[in-house]
Amino acid sequence: MKRLITVLSCIILLSACATNPVTGRKQFIIVSESQAIAASKQAYVQMLSPLQKAGKIDRDPALKARIDRITGRLVAQAIHFRPETAQWGWTVKVIDDPKTVNAFCMAGGRMAVYSGLIQQIQPSDNELAQVMGHEIAHALSNHTAEKMSVAMASDLAVGAVAATSDNPDLALQGAALAAAVAIQLPNSRQAEKEADRIGIELAARAGYDPHAAVTLWQKMEKVSGGGRLEFLSTHPAPEKRMETLKSLVPQMMPYYQQPGDRPSYKLRDVSL
Ligand SMILES: [Zn+2]
Repeated sequence: MKRLITVLSCIILLSACATNPVTGRKQFIIVSESQAIAASKQAYVQMLSPLQKAGKIDRDPALKARIDRITGRLVAQAIHFRPETAQWGWTVKVIDDPKTVNAFCMAGGRMAVYSGLIQQIQPSDNELAQVMGHEIAHALSNHTAEKMSVAMASDLAVGAVAATSDNPDLALQGAALAAAVAIQLPNSRQAEKEADRIGIELAARAGYDPHAAVTLWQKMEKVSGGGRLEFLSTHPAPEKRMETLKSLVPQMMPYYQQPGDRPSYKLRDVSL
């Protein structure tokens, strides 16, 4: 059985290549985007429902409304980039965890922000839009499937065993596990570059000042102080991140300065 799995995995690996739907970069992919979305949907509930039971989800209505307002405008722009994502289950929950500075957007648009990011970084709306824009950019670029592919290729026990199992429940558990592992794996520097570039544009088009992309990362580094922030360990800095972001600001300003109200997407109320 084990040998069969290894052989199967090799066949899968040989044919594993896909193209980023937004930037055109070649990606190592053995998990399709629809598989990543299905697995993420399940992983999201598995991760968050115990927190819900412990009363740690969306405890602060004002903060939840602020996150919804910013994220709704970003999602409207994400759908403009990739119209088929209008079908995604876009939703965001605030996790009450003051010690954790983190946020994520899974494949399929399920997002979460930890209260520690708000309390420790103290982001302005413009800066918060950069965080969420960056996270949404990872999802739009299919980075979850890319990281799930890495998780499954590097740990056959998690991936291939479950994927080839006769027991569909076990298969789902394995894929959901890989999805949960994927959001805890660092993105590649190339993926970070993509998310920085797409994220700042999503935010600017949604009416958020692109200068905030630079100040956000400055705040992150300051709060981190050489220590470990969850967000910085999963989002390793591409070379010259700040300079690159700063150099993007002039081309983003016309999007930001466009007159008129920005559209907002009504986020879904996903039950846990
Ligand atoms: Zn990132």
